[in-house]
Amino acid sequence: MKAVRFHQHGGLEVLRHEDAPDPSVPPGSVLVRVRACALNHLDLWQRRGLDRVTIPMPHISGADVAGEIATVSPGVTEYQVGQRVMLQPGLSCGRCARCLAGEDNYCARYDVLGYQSSGGYAELVAVPAANIIPLPDGIDFVEAAAFPLSFLTAWHMLMTRAGLTERDTVLVLAAGSGVGQAAIQIAKFFRARVIATAGHANKLDRAKALGADDVVSHTTDDLVATVRKLTAGRGVDVVVEHVGAATWDRSVRCLARGGRLVTCGATTGHDTRLDLRHLFARQLSLLGSYMGGKPELLRAADLFFRGALRPVVDRTFPLSEAAQAQQRLESGAHFGKIVLSV
Ligand SMILES: [Zn+2]
Repeated sequence: MKAVRFHQHGGLEVLRHEDAPDPSVPPGSVLVRVRACALNHLDLWQRRGLDRVTIPMPHISGADVAGEIATVSPGVTEYQVGQRVMLQPGLSCGRCARCLAGEDNYCARYDVLGYQSSGGYAELVAVPAANIIPLPDGIDFVEAAAFPLSFLTAWHMLMTRAGLTERDTVLVLAAGSGVGQAAIQIAKFFRARVIATAGHANKLDRAKALGADDVVSHTTDDLVATVRKLTAGRGVDVVVEHVGAATWDRSVRCLARGGRLVTCGATTGHDTRLDLRHLFARQLSLLGSYMGGKPELLRAADLFFRGALRPVVDRTFPLSEAAQAQQRLESGAHFGKIVLSV
């Protein structure tokens, strides 16, 4: 098969569009002919190299996949060759107490497709049958690939970790990011009030079109002062954080008394400070979040298939231009998901 792989860590130049062996299909697995694969920041971290994480080489990234079933291994009876599917991006043991409770993202053996396994920057990918989610007609492959990781992450952050209610006002940072566009839509679906941030006027307009009640420019506005003004001095109940060092202090200061900050990433750096007086005196909750459980993805996917949630696709690139696609993600010029068509 053709795949985009890297044989060593580095810049965009290490990505090679080349021949690679077809994946093996162990018992209980399904081989999927990839039609679309969306990018995530995780792909950039893998390529650059991570402290204390060994990425198998040569490596094929790609967690967000949609395509058609090419082969089913013996014993897999519920799916047929040719069926249109998208993939749940979390891989887990399937047998421990957390997996059996539908909390597979807490499994000790949890992995993300394309992280320490081979992912979807390829013509073929093999996954356990448990990772298959059949697609209804009318959902195209590009949109389907743009859905799973961002919406799963945002769902787990808002619904499970932060316990969102319709009484909450939510601050969503970086509306144009994968998590940002998903969090705006989920929070609005559950009738919360949403304040979203972005860097450019056209992104602010797009955040409003997605349902944000108010928008704040993080380049020209004073975030904390503007949020205070928009909430009559109170602050927000929930902050959806994934930016990290560049925004952390302001995110904490935007919280109302009893507010919850939920974070799933640190794109701008992970070293930050916390004034503990804010934490206890204002009774804040700081919540870490990583991916989500398959039941959460299935609930979100049901809303996607019914048209209530819709991933925003920024641009598509052919698989052979994966480096240009990653460059666009690194540039921050995108609004929504960047997708490889395969
Ligand atoms: Zn498990």
